[in-house]
Amino acid sequence: MRAMVFEEVGAPLREHELPIPEPGPGQLLLKVRACGVCRTDLHLIDGEVDIPDPPRVLGHQIVAEAVDAGPDAAVPAGRIGVPWLGWTDGTCEYCTSGRENLCERARFTGRDIDGGYAEYAVADARYCFELPAEHPDEQLAPLLCAGLIGYRALRMCGEARRLGLYGFGASAHIIAQVARWQGREVYAFTRSGDDAGQAFARELGAVWAGASEEPPPQPLEAAIVFAPVGGLVPLALKALARGGTVVCAGIHMSDIPSFPYDILWGERSVASVANLTRADGVEFLGIAQKADVKTTTTRYPLERANEALDDLRSGRLEGAAVLVP
Ligand SMILES: [Zn+2]
Ligand SMILES: [Zn+2]
Repeated sequence: MRAMVFEEVGAPLREHELPIPEPGPGQLLLKVRACGVCRTDLHLIDGEVDIPDPPRVLGHQIVAEAVDAGPDAAVPAGRIGVPWLGWTDGTCEYCTSGRENLCERARFTGRDIDGGYAEYAVADARYCFELPAEHPDEQLAPLLCAGLIGYRALRMCGEARRLGLYGFGASAHIIAQVARWQGREVYAFTRSGDDAGQAFARELGAVWAGASEEPPPQPLEAAIVFAPVGGLVPLALKALARGGTVVCAGIHMSDIPSFPYDILWGERSVASVANLTRADGVEFLGIAQKADVKTTTTRYPLERANEALDDLRSGRLEGAAVLVP
């Protein structure tokens, strides 16, 4: 099978011909139909998030059809989705308290386990999601991380009605739709001068869109920072009303500059979101259906993975990049 493989930090992915993997106990053999490209993949390539045991096939937003199963697993009918969370120990204090996203022994798809930048992959059946029948493969792929982890961040915003989204990429374009469906007001913040990004946010129902340095017309009750830029945290704090929360949704962020206590005082808080639980996935996929979320995607053939990653890095993309073998 063809696969795009991470070999070392800083190098482009290399196209390889690999044997089709064999499903072990509890695993499915998957024929990949589409795989979303995530900013985490850039952090892995840049060495900001470690890949413990390279070479590795990246890709953790896999839409696939199961074609075979190992012992103790059955081939499900219909398409399935494979997310970032690939395995947990099931026994630690986090796993046994509904917080498997925090498991310290967790293994992640496309980091510890070969992922979906390939024609085939294997996955533990217990960590796969059933997908709805009606949508095209490439529209579903971005729901599996951009959508799902974005949704976990949105839930941490509680009942906040005036919601700021900093960085309007794959995650924000999905979460803006969910937030609107929930009756919230979305305020979208982009790089200064990104008129196309701000217009895109307004098209998706944002009541206001502007540059990250601009104050919103009204103080926000919560903000989610999707861009991996630590400098956005004090800006978002300054945009908050008392009691508001800033949620950092990425796996990596540049250092957060120091800021006056003044902008945190008044029971404002800063939190991070890590990974996902399987319960998040089931809940979010149901909500995405009800809210009729429509993803905007740019499709690339598998062998052009590096081009997709470059476009993501430079902000040339609207919505999400998806690889199709
Ligand atoms: Zn655990
Ligand atoms: Zn991701």
